[in-house]
Amino acid sequence: MLASRSMRSVARRMGSARGLHASARQDMKVLVALYDDPETGYPPKYARDDIPHIEKYPDGQTTPTPQSELPFQPGELLGCVSGELGLRKFLEDRGHTLVVTSDKDGPDSQFEKELKDADIVISQPFWPAYMTAERIAKAKNLKACLTAGIGSDHVDLEAACKNNVTVTEVTFCNSISVAEHVCMHILTLVRNFVPAHKIVCEGGWNIADAVSRSYDVEGMSVGTIAAGRIGLAVLRRMAPFDCKLHYTDRHRLSPEVEKELNLTYHETVEDMVKVCDVVTINCPLHPETENMMNEEMLSKFKRGAYLINTARGKICDRDAIKRALESGQLAGYAGDVWFPQPPPRDHPWRTMPNHGMTPHISGTSLSAQHRYAAGVIETLECIFDNKPIRDEYLIAQNGSLAGVGAHSYSPGNATGGSDEAVKFKNK
Ligand code: NDP
Repeated sequence: MLASRSMRSVARRMGSARGLHASARQDMKVLVALYDDPETGYPPKYARDDIPHIEKYPDGQTTPTPQSELPFQPGELLGCVSGELGLRKFLEDRGHTLVVTSDKDGPDSQFEKELKDADIVISQPFWPAYMTAERIAKAKNLKACLTAGIGSDHVDLEAACKNNVTVTEVTFCNSISVAEHVCMHILTLVRNFVPAHKIVCEGGWNIADAVSRSYDVEGMSVGTIAAGRIGLAVLRRMAPFDCKLHYTDRHRLSPEVEKELNLTYHETVEDMVKVCDVVTINCPLHPETENMMNEEMLSKFKRGAYLINTARGKICDRDAIKRALESGQLAGYAGDVWFPQPPPRDHPWRTMPNHGMTPHISGTSLSAQHRYAAGVIETLECIFDNKPIRDEYLIAQNGSLAGVGAHSYSPGNATGGSDEAVKFKNK
């Protein structure tokens, strides 16, 4: 459980030592874990010269609005080590110290060594710095963990609350990026794109092989588990394909939206998966959703359904997914989220049949990076200048879940097992 009353009071007392604003103006050490540079070198040769300028998200919320002039150009690769999330000039001009590393897992990693006296930790869900209870305990100066993206399940939120560590993310920054990726996965799986592409790359032309698992999505029942920012955007994007649209969520959408998209609401996940040809998972990972897609739930699916998961790897039982593909219970599985990240080289999802997996990329398009790097700068400005952080960005503050986090997450911890990530570099 997250916080009994006595735990909360301990958290508040510890808060006076660690508290975010107590030392807000002092020099801070900001430790950032970012993914490796491109193997072809940094900066890459960009394919395009600009990205569209977006001022507002579909719900009217403004995109990040930092006071500082942004120290990077829209469309630059910022999420890798040399990109530094565009933070170096911003931080050093203010007298703070920036440490960036991709070496984030295991007790001998650079991240773990630097963590001891870090004030602020930043990482992206694509290359998460797993902030377990042990790490939070070791980081005596830690005041805040910022997620450059959406999804703070890599932070033990229970331990963050107990230790009065503020947790934030950049809500909505890449929700549409992910929704686009989900639609791509639906189409590539149903139409059998990946094997057909492989045939031409290998010099072949066997049309029968290419089409023997290829269907139209038109008329299929497509359902989303959760209809939040991403889930609803997926429904809107699939509507023009003339699919029958379904959803389940803890809260119902408005009757106007249900009518506009001709949605069928289901009280439970189980009720929905029974009638769907395609299921897409768009809920956060928290103790309530961890392992939701297990053997039993998969047995309720229509035989030959497709499952798309761009939410979090741990929402699905790794081995049950593999078995469902092998038996044909699932016709295909795709997504970009794994557990841990990076996944060990022998992770079964790399080699299971009929999968369309990518590395965790949907929310880190160059378009999205611009928004979440700007959102991180906006949040840091609030921390340094002792101003309130947008409610939409807050996940935990002052010893409990807060802001958007209080709505979307449930108490508890979902980081267990993340130490496995070290296997990627050891094999
Ligand atoms: P939102 O908060 O807008 O939506 C999440 C929805 O999930 C809410 O409607 C919430 O319900 C619902 N929900 C929570 N728990 C359950 C549950 N047990 N059963 C059914 N519904 C539930 O978040 P986003 O749409 O922006 O993002 C969703 C998730 O997608 C993130 O948490 C993250 O894990 C993942 N993500 C992945 C990315 C990637 O690159 N692959 C990038 C960005 C996000 P309600 O609010 O009604 O209670």
